[in-house]
Amino acid sequence: PEPQTEPDPTKKTLVILGTGWGSVSLLKRLDTENYNVIVISPRNYFLFTPLLPSCTTGTIEHRSIMEPIRTILRSKKASVRFYEAEASSIDPDRKVVRIFDNSEVKGDMTETEVPYDMLVVGVGAENATFGIPGVREHSCFLKEIGDAQRIRKRIMDCVETAAFKDQSPEEINRLMHMVVVGGGPTGVEFAGELQDFFEEDIKKLVPEISDRFRVTLIEALPNVLPSFSKQLIEYTESTFKEEKINIHTKTMVKKVTDKTVEAVATRPDGTKETIVFPYGLLVWATGNAVRPVVQDLMSRVPAQKNSRRGLAVNEYLVVQGARDIWAVGDCAVAGYAPTAQVASQEGNFLARLFNNMARTEALESKIAELSGSLNIQPGNTAEISREIEEYERQLRRIKDVKPFHYSHQGSLAYIGSEKAVADVTWFNGNVAAAGGLTYLFWRSAYISMCFSTRNRLLVINDWLKSKLFGRDLSRE
Ligand code: FAD
Ligand code: NAD
Repeated sequence: PEPQTEPDPTKKTLVILGTGWGSVSLLKRLDTENYNVIVISPRNYFLFTPLLPSCTTGTIEHRSIMEPIRTILRSKKASVRFYEAEASSIDPDRKVVRIFDNSEVKGDMTETEVPYDMLVVGVGAENATFGIPGVREHSCFLKEIGDAQRIRKRIMDCVETAAFKDQSPEEINRLMHMVVVGGGPTGVEFAGELQDFFEEDIKKLVPEISDRFRVTLIEALPNVLPSFSKQLIEYTESTFKEEKINIHTKTMVKKVTDKTVEAVATRPDGTKETIVFPYGLLVWATGNAVRPVVQDLMSRVPAQKNSRRGLAVNEYLVVQGARDIWAVGDCAVAGYAPTAQVASQEGNFLARLFNNMARTEALESKIAELSGSLNIQPGNTAEISREIEEYERQLRRIKDVKPFHYSHQGSLAYIGSEKAVADVTWFNGNVAAAGGLTYLFWRSAYISMCFSTRNRLLVINDWLKSKLFGRDLSRE
């Protein structure tokens, strides 16, 4: 039968903000028949972020790692409403979310309120810039599909502009200098992809300027990939050296202009030095900052006063100090790193919790109904009591929801030249692996993690295509 499309007044309204790792993992496992579910996100698709760095060079085409939310919702038993909109504020007292249509095409109605009984905040995070001047105006980020497309276009624009007739050698050097700020996994993976693109394609197709291409990675801390084990950090740094990617550690960017990055480096003797890097492309990957809608909610809830990095949640992912609001993923502070792995496990946990809550409520109302009928039908007392007992037994089993516990499966990162690094948990022990075999493991792990079979086939097809025919250098 067709799923019912109108909200059922006997059910609670569950509003889910976001269509990222946290929210979509929740939706996948949620029994939508128990609630009137409404999903709100400015993005009408799920994005498989681990392969986003590969989209910046065309190794993978961007649509291969997107899954439309409408397709995901179609497979649910009961219908789910989706509004393509951004939540601008949440009023925890009136229990409403204010939303607005931020897309290009607008109708007469662009802003409204959505009431909720239960709310899940899974809006992720935005890019941190630490207020450093010039960053927002001049650099590219790497978080969304649009960012990857912008970078891809810009790389080719730099290359073609460098190859322009009579371009001066200094200008060619600047245009062919690709600077990455932030040596976390995003910066490292992007630098690796960029070097591959250059070695495998640009060098062959635009040979006249190929000796000028340089990638520089700038990191404020003493080493890149701070969350990985020491030997993998060393392996990454030595691989980058072989690939001729310049790493500047202990170097903090202070200012960005349209053509230069200014940074302060700490020398081994502790003295400081200002370095100016002229660049053609600048990619800014210095981690996460709190989104305005989350900031706004935090300011309305006194218990969130001391939380800085996002919504402080308890072990059941309930936003502390708020009623009927849960948070998942990068916008929640549960004591774990802001990763897809954490967000998806949190989403799965909430699905289990909500499915159980609905079953509990259903059993409780059955018990209340039967208890009421005990007085009305004295003849059936024994049978009714047995039924009540059975429901109570089921209820005791269900109510036992354990707090959220994160199980770390390991960290993986691609570092270019068909090499990857992996810190994996294996039979309760930690294994650090690096190199070509790890790269094959990286590929198969990500293929298996892709959202759908369609995504998997598209990604494999893209890998084959770029291997056989090279990446597509068209700038569009
Ligand atoms: P997101 O996945 O970012 O989703 C947030 C959602 O909220 C989006 O749909 C967004 O459109 C929506 N939204 C935003 N604002 C609003 C609003 N105002 N109202 C409503 N909706 C809103 N992690 C790993 O574990 N492994 C990896 O290999 C890995 N690789 C990565 C590579 C890159 C390039 C990046 C950027 C991140 C990577 N991560 C990886 C981290 C991972 O992507 C994040 O931790 C994860 O996406 C967090 O999930 P989330 O659901 O909290 O947020
Ligand atoms: P990150 O927070 O991990 O790293 C940002 C880096 O930028 C830090 O090392 C920081 O010291 C540096 N930095 C900050 N300000 C700077 C400045 N002014 N100048 C120079 N360096 C500066 O950020 P990310 O790499 O975007 O990752 C975000 C999250 O996503 C992390 O939790 C990460 O684990 C996850 N992620 C995982 C993978 C993977 O597992 N393969 C890939 C990408 C992202």
